Amino acid sequence: MKKFLELVAEKKKAMKMLLNNSKSEKKYRVCNNCKKEIPNNDNICQNCQLIEKADRLVGAANVFAVGSFVPTLDHFPILSKVNPRHWDFILSVAGVFIVATILNGLQLDNDQGDTLMDIVEKKLSEWDTDGTRAFDDCKSLFEKEYDRLAVSPEYQKDRQFISVDALGIWIVWNLFNRQPQNNEEISLVRVTGSLVMHTFHNWWKLS
Ligand SMILES: [Zn+2]
Repeated sequence: MKKFLELVAEKKKAMKMLLNNSKSEKKYRVCNNCKKEIPNNDNICQNCQLIEKADRLVGAANVFAVGSFVPTLDHFPILSKVNPRHWDFILSVAGVFIVATILNGLQLDNDQGDTLMDIVEKKLSEWDTDGTRAFDDCKSLFEKEYDRLAVSPEYQKDRQFISVDALGIWIVWNLFNRQPQNNEEISLVRVTGSLVMHTFHNWWKLS
């Protein structure tokens, strides 16, 4: 019996040492990028992860836009009237805009939010000289449409599509250079808005 208890005590001691070792290993981990100490097993710290995400957003939005034209055209023949390059531009800007809007809603301190937004804006204007103008246009129509939809009876019961449709209205309006009119264009509003929202809603989520 005594031997058994001794064995248990030894095991406990070994376990404690193991735990202490892993704690001290964690303590000395530093971010590969800024060399700040980090408490977990990531390679880069959370701040550097966010900066990296801001840096690659415009590129990722463009890849998404280019890849989404043909699958959407399969369901919406009306898109054959739209130049695929124009689609790429509009859908990219919509993606960047929605990620920027989500950034505004995150609990970051002002400096960090501004730094991330500065990176996105710089990338956007380098990508296309019209990028910033289109982003501002998207922002202004989105806000106007959001307010209009939010008070309409159709959206009072079910509010989940207000953002999606406000974004989709900007997309479809710009694809055809006029307000969405027929049924196909109106259902394209919901589909394109959902597609962009679904693709980018988790953009800032840390690993
Ligand atoms: Zn870092």
